[in-house]
Amino acid sequence: MNFKQSEKLYQKGLENLVGAVNSPVRAFASVGGNPLFINKAKGAYIKDVDGNRYLDMVLSYGPMVLGHRHKKVEKNISKALKKGYSFGASTHAEIKLAKIVCDAFPGMDKVRFVNSGTEAVLSAIRLARAHTGKDKIIKFSGCYHGHMDAMLVAAGSGLATLSLPGSQGVPAQAVENTLIAEYNDLASVENHIEQHPDIAAVILEPVTGNMGVIEPSQAFIQGLRKLTKEKDILLICDEVMTGFRSKFGGAQEMLGIEADITCLGKVIGGGFPVGAYGARNEIMENVAPLGGMYQAGTLSGNPIAMAAGMSTLLELKKQNPYKKFDKIAEKIETILLDAGNKHGVDLTVNRFGSMISPFFAKENITNFTDAQKCDTKKFATFFWKMIENGVFLPPSQFESWFLCSALTHSDMRKFESAVDVSLAAVAEHH
Ligand SMILES: *Cc1c(COP(=O)(O)O)cnc(C)c1O
Repeated sequence: MNFKQSEKLYQKGLENLVGAVNSPVRAFASVGGNPLFINKAKGAYIKDVDGNRYLDMVLSYGPMVLGHRHKKVEKNISKALKKGYSFGASTHAEIKLAKIVCDAFPGMDKVRFVNSGTEAVLSAIRLARAHTGKDKIIKFSGCYHGHMDAMLVAAGSGLATLSLPGSQGVPAQAVENTLIAEYNDLASVENHIEQHPDIAAVILEPVTGNMGVIEPSQAFIQGLRKLTKEKDILLICDEVMTGFRSKFGGAQEMLGIEADITCLGKVIGGGFPVGAYGARNEIMENVAPLGGMYQAGTLSGNPIAMAAGMSTLLELKKQNPYKKFDKIAEKIETILLDAGNKHGVDLTVNRFGSMISPFFAKENITNFTDAQKCDTKKFATFFWKMIENGVFLPPSQFESWFLCSALTHSDMRKFESAVDVSLAAVAEHH
């Protein structure tokens, strides 16, 4: 396998792009080497510019839940393309997609479409503040909610608990209303609530994907729902990653909870830039033009993106691949743990439907502190061996792997032999 064309494009890209990428997760910073450049994709497979073909477990970080270029989605997009690309006015497609989304999430009477998960979250937070008249937000260490200023705290370091910005260029004032709690630790939330009377909302990934896959304990998530209700604090479920992924109704359906505000993205656009936030009528009525909370977007509800999202969700509903996802994920867990045992490599596998994270660690991973104990050097070795054996994984220990409904049993055999070779290499090098 060679990467000559990718290497060439990378060097070229460095001239006019920042690090040759448009999102830092695409740089191979934590695994070493240079990023691969992709030419095209179909079904469960993706091809780079050198013609190397990989089983794709990145799936654009989640959106391509049906696999790439599903026939029906492609057809619907082509149809929409012939009618025009953007009108700056309402279309029927927006109403149809809104109905599908509101039906899937019982806590949503109304939805507003935006262009990314980041936008969904920043709007949801503004909405929570508008509705409650309070300013403070509780966020959990290790949860990622996009790149708005107030959420760029504790998307990482130990400084996190001090509410120091996690990025240069974020003023201290921008994060002074962000309080950091520990995932799966209800007491850390209670402490904040005791000390601060002005908390508008608690935001979380109801199942995390951005520090690897971590599920909330029932006691934690049910306790959080109860506590926020009692204290008139809104619960914001950021389901940008989990929405439609492991159940049609997202993590909320799986966990049996109902958020006050839900954020969506990724799958909802079927590969196009779509985000959304929604809530009960009484909350959404704060949003302009019904209310005084301003939020707008030139390309929001874009007709091509709506066509892609709608056909993706309709096809998902029809296929109902969620049981299949569970089975394949279970198989993947077995493959990983068996190979880990065989080669003497410690692994912990967390999974939630079609999201899977193998951690190079011995102990259970239940929060960000646990996740940080992983051996990222072992992951880097594993990552490159998997590439060489035709499996495309996210280039970070802390990103979830994703499954698509186009996967078959023979793909699993390919995966199994790649894992065997790659974990053998990890055992040999570390
Ligand atoms: C990806 C992600 C976001 C940000 O979405 P973008 O479309 O990248 O802006 C926000 N929250 C969660 C949970 C995500 O996984």
